[in-house]
Parts: sequence; C-alpha cells; structure tokens
Amino acid sequence: MTSENVSPPTASSPDGLAAVEREIARACKDAGRTRSSVTLVAVSKTFGAEAIAPVIAAGQRVFGENRVQEARAKWPGLMTAYPGLSLHLIGPLQSNKAKEAVALFDAIHSVDRPSVCQALAKEIAAQERRPQLFVQINTGEEPQKAGVAPGDADAFIASCREIYGLTISGLMCIPPVDEAAAPHFALTAKIAARNGLANLSMGMSADFATAIQFGATHIRVGSAIFGHRSPAA
Ligand SMILES: *Cc1c(COP(=O)(O)O)cnc(C)c1O
Repeated sequence: MTSENVSPPTASSPDGLAAVEREIARACKDAGRTRSSVTLVAVSKTFGAEAIAPVIAAGQRVFGENRVQEARAKWPGLMTAYPGLSLHLIGPLQSNKAKEAVALFDAIHSVDRPSVCQALAKEIAAQERRPQLFVQINTGEEPQKAGVAPGDADAFIASCREIYGLTISGLMCIPPVDEAAAPHFALTAKIAARNGLANLSMGMSADFATAIQFGATHIRVGSAIFGHRSPAA
C-alpha cells in the first residue's frame, strides 16, 4: 500500500466525504494512479465551522474557499483548533487582497494577471511565505470568467517566472458549465506539459473522476461533500 494523506472513511465519516473518497479510489485505480497522487481540496465556501468540523474529524485536511474575506472570517479559528490544515484559494484574486491571501492561504489557484503577479511577488518576499501557485486558464475563452486565454498561456507563464520571479506549480481550469469537461482537461494538461508544470487543478463535484483520468493532481470538490449551497452563494 502507498501511504495516503487522507484517513480511510470510517462509520463516523460524513456520508458525502466517504462517497467522494470511494469514487476517487475507483478513478485512481482505473487510471493506474495512486491515491496519494491526487489531493482532494474540500470546497467549504458558504458553509460554517459547524459543517466543516465533522469533515476535519473524518480525516480531511485540505480545504478550498473562493473568497478572501469569507475565509478570513472563518478559518483562523478552525486552524487554531485543528493544527495541520491546508487552505487553498480557488476563486479570483484582486491585487489589493494579495497581502491577506499570502498570509492566509497555502495555495492560490487563480493567478491570471500581471497586477496579481506583481502583488504576490511583493508579499511573498515581505512575508517569507510561499503559497503554491497555479495559473488559471480560461479554456472556454468565456468573457465573464477569470483566467488566461489558452493562446496567451505560454507567454504569461514565462512572464510569471522571468519578470516576477514566481515559482508556478501548475495550472487550473473551470470548464464551461454547458460543455463536456474532458476536452478542457486535456487542453489544460497539454499546456502544463509543454511548460514543464507538474500540477493540474481540475475537476469538481460533477466531473472529478474524468479529471483524474486526464491527470488532475488537485480536485476541487464542494457540493458532493457538503451538500447543496444556497443559490444566492
Ligand atoms: C465552488 C467551486 C468548486 C466546487 O464546486 P462543486 O460543484 O460544488 O464541487 C470548485 N472550483 C471552484 C473554482 C469553485 O468556485
């Protein structure tokens, strides 16, 4: 057995997490991958500490939030209560929030603009913290969505490295809701490979098994673990 960074589901695990763990195990087996090659980021946005604590108790250690303000209100208390948690920012980042983001998050999945690169570089130097960084690719070229256009990705990744001195760990994508996800995962994997990037943040509740098949190293799963969010969220 390979070592696993997540405890196996137990009778006391929340049902959603246990079901997600079973499907991750199956997808890894089908793809000939080890469970430890996939990090489950449990997306807790809109849910409070009372919903999150049982998921921590069941062995989950990596969580994702899409808003800096919400995370700042919710997580410092949980992090004190449960040492060893890792918190990932999966939503858009404004450069004026870079200071708080670098202080709070262990990974940022949404690097997509020179102004954000510049702000991150400054804060990483000032705070001596090095969050894992992902460049978000807007694979569907949707105007309302954050991320770098696929055609601009190579130049953007190069500028992150050469102009801002950032260490980029991987790429992230959010496929359009009304399209098959697989071609978007394949495109993201291809851009990562040609830029020498090892990590792929892709796959959500509806499609994380497909994402694992296409090489996802980080899957961002919310509703399948925590249940449905209120539509206003
Ligand atoms: C909310 C969110 C998720 C999780 O979505 P689910 O469908 O609930 O699993 C993943 N990634 C991002 C960027 C999100 O904002």
